[in-house]
Amino acid sequence: MIAEIIVDVAAHPIDRPFDYLIPEKLEALAEPGMRVKVPFGNRKVLGFITNIKEKSDFDPGRMKPIHELMDVVPVLNTELLEMAAWMKEQTVCFEIDALQVMVPAALRAKYEKRFVLTSGLEEIDPRLHPYFGNKPFIRSQEAEDVFGLIKKELDKGTIIADTNIQQQTAVKKVRMIHVSDSVEKLESIDIRGNAKQQLKLMDFMKENPGLSIESSELQKIAGVTLPTIYSLAEKGAADLSNVETYRDPKMLTEIEKKDNLVLTEAQQKAFDAIDKSLNTPRTFLLHGITGSGKTEIYLQTIDKVLKEGKEAIMLVPEISLTPQMTLRFKERFGDMVAVLHSGLSAGEKYDEWRKIQRGEVKVAVGARSAIFAPFENLGLIILDEEHESSYKQDDSPRYHARDLAIWRGEYHSCPVILGSATPSLESYARAQKGVYELLVLEKRARNQPLPAVHIVDMREELRTGNRSMFSIQLADAIRDRLAKKEQTVLFLNKRGYSSFVLCRDCGTVMQCPNCDISLTYHRSSETMKCHYCGYDERVPHTCPECESEHIRFFGTGTQKVEEELAKLVPEARVLRMDVDTTRNKGAHEKILNSFGEGKADILLGTQMIAKGLDFPNITLVGVLSADTTLHLPDFRAAEKTYQLLTQVSGRAGRDVLPGTVFVQSYTPEHYAITLAKDQLYEPFYDQEMAMRRASGYPPYYYVVNIQFTHEDLMTVAEYAGQTVEYLRKQLSEGTIIIGPSASLIARVNNRYRYQCLIKYKKEPKLTEVMQQLIKIYRSDWLKKGATLAIDMNPTSVM
Ligand code: ADP
Ligand code: ZN
Ligand code: ZN
Repeated sequence: MIAEIIVDVAAHPIDRPFDYLIPEKLEALAEPGMRVKVPFGNRKVLGFITNIKEKSDFDPGRMKPIHELMDVVPVLNTELLEMAAWMKEQTVCFEIDALQVMVPAALRAKYEKRFVLTSGLEEIDPRLHPYFGNKPFIRSQEAEDVFGLIKKELDKGTIIADTNIQQQTAVKKVRMIHVSDSVEKLESIDIRGNAKQQLKLMDFMKENPGLSIESSELQKIAGVTLPTIYSLAEKGAADLSNVETYRDPKMLTEIEKKDNLVLTEAQQKAFDAIDKSLNTPRTFLLHGITGSGKTEIYLQTIDKVLKEGKEAIMLVPEISLTPQMTLRFKERFGDMVAVLHSGLSAGEKYDEWRKIQRGEVKVAVGARSAIFAPFENLGLIILDEEHESSYKQDDSPRYHARDLAIWRGEYHSCPVILGSATPSLESYARAQKGVYELLVLEKRARNQPLPAVHIVDMREELRTGNRSMFSIQLADAIRDRLAKKEQTVLFLNKRGYSSFVLCRDCGTVMQCPNCDISLTYHRSSETMKCHYCGYDERVPHTCPECESEHIRFFGTGTQKVEEELAKLVPEARVLRMDVDTTRNKGAHEKILNSFGEGKADILLGTQMIAKGLDFPNITLVGVLSADTTLHLPDFRAAEKTYQLLTQVSGRAGRDVLPGTVFVQSYTPEHYAITLAKDQLYEPFYDQEMAMRRASGYPPYYYVVNIQFTHEDLMTVAEYAGQTVEYLRKQLSEGTIIIGPSASLIARVNNRYRYQCLIKYKKEPKLTEVMQQLIKIYRSDWLKKGATLAIDMNPTSVM
């Protein structure tokens, strides 16, 4: 027998299956969807069996045999193998990348495969007895000679195949160091003069009394070892504690079961439309304002699908995979749900994946990659917040979960629901054309009014002499809520707005030595970090250019807001949620929980608080600056701003208490801001569509972004230039090619970045030309150190 195998060879210019002989002893088990080790050139590489056949055009005498089976049961089923081939065409990726992304991470690492007896040894073929001896299992390598016999037992069920994955402990802890907040105490500790490390650490501690920090972080920043930290802690300079980094997922199993709510009339109408199409490959766009009861519809349609004996996938953006969201699914479906969230270790994720594969659960809830849940009998796929850009993967394969959902819907002949309060323009345009069926929820489920949104003109504030980042109105409202013991959420639109370190004498801004980007100031550790390459260093005492001591940080990071807030309302208890405070697993959840329990008056945060926050006591939302996303050099800037404002506003007044929202802006007349005020989606859609038409962007045109990187600026410019020339020759007249030009961030990690953009309406040769381009790249430019990334339908063109 002969296997067609997709091999993992990055440098090969051709992406097609290669034929390999299946050695006789492996024949009994080898199946499509299994991974193998095969010889390629003079190496052994990983491959996936995609097909098994009897004949090959290739000379069998010269064909090489498969070296080893990496799986003893297929990791991918026929459907996923087909989808990988489709992804290769759609996203212009290598098929191996598409195959790899579908396999759980734990299976990509080293693990042991075993055959395990399900009953007694006496049940199985006596010829196998010596292999087992007195163990209940054998490793698959030990059984290669008897795979034929094993296969028979597998089919009978007397043996099962199992993978033994090293489990991380369920609860991971990090060690925290709490430096004493008494400088006197620190001064009083005696350290011998030759204990250099201890002296160094003590200096650091004296500069940072009261600091709480992870020990690994402290070791890095202070440049000391763990024993040094311990010895100072023993002397009383610091306390130690262990903090859980994420919650044991099992805690969610003791949840009380809840029944379906009685649907409102509008919900019922939407439900019925979907219900009628349960066995049809139809895509619905469920457009409902925040709080209109979309999630309830998801829950009830899933319920219906389960009753028909089928399975469902529910995709949510990672960031809204909150405990609250998870809880709602566990309450309805109990043990039937697998939740795949980023807090799980690779081993735990694999356990959930295996429950899906074995049919032990019927619903998978998870972020983007849950679209690969290996269900066999799908009845429904849902994407909540379908406009979210996190549904698109940033690196190869650059797939969009929405496209894969629709593909799987076709395959299983089942509906797909795309839900959003602010649909992407692409999806709404498709619904307008009747490609998707539009379902609308116009009111909140319990008829709560939408929050009153006020737009504050910050230019006016400045004119009247208010230089603070809080307008008079917002400041008053914050004080008012404090007095009433109601909660406030403050939202800092952080993108492109981080704090940097600047010399006030010569104006030098501290830059990353590897990237064309300024370093971001981190107060807790007194360091400057590059958010692109991870470089960090201590804030210098003097300017590296002019040696001035007037060096300080600027900008409006969340830490800065927190400081101003402390001046404005010193009595308020503030929780801050941003990349810094949520670096540890589970921290996100902990902050939300304590806010929910009323342990703070104000929650201050970035993007990550825009979603999923559903607490009855929030009556005030403040958006400190609505403009930051608006002025990004990206054709989706207005759309993103509209979406963000709508979402943030949706956090207020979700329960009995009515909500108020203040949106501060320096461009309050922009339509993305004025129309978000009253959640007027359609007028926004019309206006934004007119802009897109005028500038030739999606949904009127399709876009492809091609990016090159190289250590040498001239080389990268040359390759990009050659590409543009090539594309001009190959593609049709109506297609627009923009560039080449340097990327917005022109250098990252010491590599220069160039890009070009293709805009087209109809381009039958596109896939072919892109594959040709990859071929040129792989047979030449790759070897000379370049990288090439082709992004079909990018979520942003920055
Ligand atoms: P969305 O997903 O559109 O934001 P949700 O489904 O979360 O909306 O509903 C918003 C709130 O209204 C939730 O607290 C939910 O429990 C409640 N709700 C939804 N549907 C109903 C209903 N039919 N009857 C009563 N309450 C409902
Ligand atoms: Zn200077
Ligand atoms: Zn950098």
